[in-house]
Amino acid sequence: MNSRRDFLQKLAASAIAFPSLSYLTTAAPLTGCNTLHDGPVLRVAIMGLGSYGTRVAEAMRSCTKAKLVGAISGHPDKLKSWQTRYNIPEKNCYNYENYDAIRNNPDIDAVYVITPNALHKEAVIRIAKAGKHAISEKPMSVNARDGQEMVDACKKAGVKLLVGYRMHFEPHTLQVVGMRKSGQFGTVRFFQGLSGFTIGDPTQWRLNKQLSGGGSLMDIGIYSINGARYMIGEDPIWVTAQEIKTDKVKFKEGVDETIQFQLGFPSGAVASCLSTYSMNNLDRFFLDGSQGWAEMWPSTGYGPIKGRTHLGEINQPIVTHQTVQMDEMSGIILQGQQPVVPVDGEEGVKDLKIIDGIYAAIALGKRVDLQL
Ligand code: NAD
Repeated sequence: MNSRRDFLQKLAASAIAFPSLSYLTTAAPLTGCNTLHDGPVLRVAIMGLGSYGTRVAEAMRSCTKAKLVGAISGHPDKLKSWQTRYNIPEKNCYNYENYDAIRNNPDIDAVYVITPNALHKEAVIRIAKAGKHAISEKPMSVNARDGQEMVDACKKAGVKLLVGYRMHFEPHTLQVVGMRKSGQFGTVRFFQGLSGFTIGDPTQWRLNKQLSGGGSLMDIGIYSINGARYMIGEDPIWVTAQEIKTDKVKFKEGVDETIQFQLGFPSGAVASCLSTYSMNNLDRFFLDGSQGWAEMWPSTGYGPIKGRTHLGEINQPIVTHQTVQMDEMSGIILQGQQPVVPVDGEEGVKDLKIIDGIYAAIALGKRVDLQL
């Protein structure tokens, strides 16, 4: 993209292709500031001020419909530095003991939970009980039963629950989804998802089952699980899976290193996927249909996402995923907008049912039926 005019022309073209994406229907730059939006603004507190929480906070500086206004952390020093860095008032800062008091804070609409996986459930339930909307990072929890409890708690409290599926708002991804929906690939028969990276520090929470709930599948394999569903456009009805472990010291009991899994869909389409903590260069989706194909590589990293189809390169705006995600989530929570690909709690539970199914298929050594 060479000029602002090219950029705006691309935005306009995108708006025709994806009319429900409000950020693409205005000429506002994707890295704008809060003054460009005159509708409601979602006021968000982030819980868990770690690496991804910081990425989201930085991205939210450019949001037009969402604003970072609060923080929850067990580290007083981090709260102090976030107050300065993001202009967060002291009265909107909490720790893990006292954050239920957020119910008395009219200046916060929603809490975004960005802590280790196994801690999402308790946090979301407490947030719901405090009458605030909840956004949970992926995986929403560590099994489908816990995920369903989160959905039920939010329903009971009358608050919304969303899952941080940033790819559901990514323009290249949405172009492929749109092409599949309009039949441009013909009958879709096959999806391949490769998700993985070589994990470092063996002492990190991602390799501790108590906090992570599993291994690579919970953390990175979930992108292939979720991607198989939005690329094929169906929910799977069976799963088979095989686990490979080369390092039993680093990847202890219950922490998967590498898993291959296959998903079967009602139409007869199949997905073949790899999830790993021991290989790099694996961030690739391939979709094959009777009349065409799509390849995305990288497919789910922070970007830029790149893709091509049988018709040529996919040419969509490069966006900061978390900026777009939070603006779109504002529209979903405050204005009842419907995303192209759902990001609600029920969507998170579906992925957890597949994860439960994959672990069961490995344990049983046979195909497991799924009911999503
Ligand atoms: P991180 O280790 O960098 O940060 C975790 C934060 O949680 C830290 O600030 C830590 O202090 C806090 N915490 C609270 N209680 C804790 C406890 N008992 N043990 C350890 N830490 C505790 O991790 P991260 O990479 O920011 O991941 C956090 C969540 O975000 C995970 O669920 C992860 O799957 C998700 N994530 C999502 C994406 C995405 O692209 N959507 C990317 C990275 C991480």
